[in-house]
Amino acid sequence: MKIIDHITNIFQEKFGSAPVHVARAPGRVNLLGEHVDYNDGFVLPAAIDRATYVAFSPTDSDQTQLVAADFDQAAVFSPRTIPLKTQTDGSPLPEWALYPAGVMWALNEDHLQARGMNAVYASDVPRGSGLSSSASVELAFITAWWTLGGWTLPSMQSALLGQKAENQYVGVNCGIMDQFASACGVENRLLLLDCRSLEWKTIPLPENISIVIADTKVRRKLTSGEYNKRRAACEEAVHLLKQDLPDITALRDVSVEEFNRLAGKLPAEVSKRARHVVEEIERSKQAEALLEAGNILRFGELMNECHVSLRDLYEVSCPELNVMARIAQSLEGCYGARLTGAGFGGCTANLVACEQAEEFSQSLAKGYQVEIGVQPEIYITRASNGAELLK
Ligand code: ADP
Ligand code: MG
Repeated sequence: MKIIDHITNIFQEKFGSAPVHVARAPGRVNLLGEHVDYNDGFVLPAAIDRATYVAFSPTDSDQTQLVAADFDQAAVFSPRTIPLKTQTDGSPLPEWALYPAGVMWALNEDHLQARGMNAVYASDVPRGSGLSSSASVELAFITAWWTLGGWTLPSMQSALLGQKAENQYVGVNCGIMDQFASACGVENRLLLLDCRSLEWKTIPLPENISIVIADTKVRRKLTSGEYNKRRAACEEAVHLLKQDLPDITALRDVSVEEFNRLAGKLPAEVSKRARHVVEEIERSKQAEALLEAGNILRFGELMNECHVSLRDLYEVSCPELNVMARIAQSLEGCYGARLTGAGFGGCTANLVACEQAEEFSQSLAKGYQVEIGVQPEIYITRASNGAELLK
């Protein structure tokens, strides 16, 4: 494993000994249920075989010394400097260090020991591409700290701590899906999560189906403002629909029939956003039975419908994602293709017959390159285990 050798070598150079432990935590791809986690809906992600790896050893001091190998940068913090978001020399924590520092903060808040350590980490989850590199960093560090602390947590609790770190320390208003998938992934299985009750189960992915991820290479900055606007529109829809449906607390509680009846009372934009959520939750409710029955054909159609809805109703797509999805859907062996993650760039998720996955990937790369003029990155991935200690 090249990435483990890489961080082990850097650890050895920087700290003068081999790391005692190595942990990994994966990124994730979501197949159905997009932009519904913060509406109490259902999501259907899988952990993928790309992950953040952290090599670490305990220290006798309370300081944590980190090296982010992918940035070639280091940071030092301690429980005393954590609330200030500074390093031990008083300088501000760099942005990348907020994620591990946020994990330490969340653990301290919950009275779980996060002792000092030396650590080097690196990842093959592309950053900001909709595959949740941030959750993989958080869960890798939660795994490191429970290893050193001698305590354990149910995987869902780890996910909630990661989310708390990202929401309250880093300041990113994400739902629970990313951390959940990184914490709870199961090899060769999809994960079905009820974002209201946090109950979850796994569903087998048929053996002859590959998940292919296609990275448009588009990275848009400042999308958090758009994300917050979508969340606000959903809240406004709930607020307005409550006049007729007093018992609802989230769009999850509104059926498609009810929504069709009442949509005219909403401002046009709010109505579009809410329609995506209500219909997407309905689609994701159908997913379990379809997958159990092996009906990949219909499941793939739901993915295609999801893309249209994200493009036209939720308006979080972009030309490059639309081209990538359109070409994929026209290729042989492809059951479904859609943008995955928050949108505005990043990746599409594709369900493809295993025996056609190689050819599909090549044709998709070629087609995208011709239309957009950019070489995309395409990889055939497997559903993998969640966060774990490797050594
Ligand atoms: P994503 O969709 O990939 O989760 P985010 O914007 O939520 O994108 O998180 C990306 C941020 O997570 C990066 O800017 C960086 O701060 C942190 N991060 C991700 N991967 C790494 C890494 N390999 N090393 C250090 N920090 C990382
Ligand atoms: Mg993220």
